[in-house]
Amino acid sequence: MARIVVVFDFDRTLIDGDSDRWVVTQMGLTSLFNQLRSTLPWNSLMDRMMKELHSQGKTADDIAECLGRMPLHPRVIAVIKSIHALGCDLRIISDANQFFIEKILDHHGLLGCFSQISTNPSFVDDEGRLRIFPYHDLNTPPHGCHLCPPNLCKGLVIAQIRASTTENEKTRFIYLGDGNGDFCPSLKLGEGDHVMPRKEYPLWNRLSSNATLVKAEVHDWGNGEELAKILLHLINTISTEENIKSSLSNQLDSSECKTSTHELTSIREVRGEPFRQRRALQAKESH
Ligand SMILES: [Mg+2]
Ligand SMILES: [Zn+2]
Repeated sequence: MARIVVVFDFDRTLIDGDSDRWVVTQMGLTSLFNQLRSTLPWNSLMDRMMKELHSQGKTADDIAECLGRMPLHPRVIAVIKSIHALGCDLRIISDANQFFIEKILDHHGLLGCFSQISTNPSFVDDEGRLRIFPYHDLNTPPHGCHLCPPNLCKGLVIAQIRASTTENEKTRFIYLGDGNGDFCPSLKLGEGDHVMPRKEYPLWNRLSSNATLVKAEVHDWGNGEELAKILLHLINTISTEENIKSSLSNQLDSSECKTSTHELTSIREVRGEPFRQRRALQAKESH
């Protein structure tokens, strides 16, 4: 039986907005942020913003409270809970940071639905300042992916998830994202996988103009309601395909196999057998 792994990008995908920008604007850091934007990589800039908040006497609890006010679409909350209950393996790969993501998910009762969150690590130091670090240690050799920023290659994380699959268990991926950083992981998906880019955002544009490079099926969405509807539909479809596959292999394994040619044809069609083989079966059936 296949494992369905649903991987969410966080900002502008799982949540409608951007958690970093939310904290910057809500906590009065916009002008300092704009002033330093061109001088620091994003990751270091957010660490610098947290230093600023600390120097103003703002605590990690104040930041958590601000994150708790970040809106999340009710249909997205509901679909995450349902697909987790259905047994899907839910993960997040994000260029935000651990503290922001965990506080937002926890506020909406979703933290327990995710088996893994791969993002820039963060912790509150002895002085109470929130520190944010890159996901990939920048002192080790670079990850070598020219599509991704030095601090995080999301495609590498996808490769690691795939490598963790046991021999008898096929992984079917559904990847949801919006940004340029989601292009690399989308290219790591194979046939039978699905990618859900947010309509008219950078990932959607890049997938549209590089269609021949993409092996996964593409399904676009514009808002939380569409995201929820498409995601549920895909999970139903994959589950049906996989049930048919496993019942077929059980029947073929059984010495009492009495599958009629007609049933076999329809099962093979769902499995996506080559057209040539389907024609051969149909020809056999008509005699
Ligand atoms: Mg994003
Ligand atoms: Zn990459």
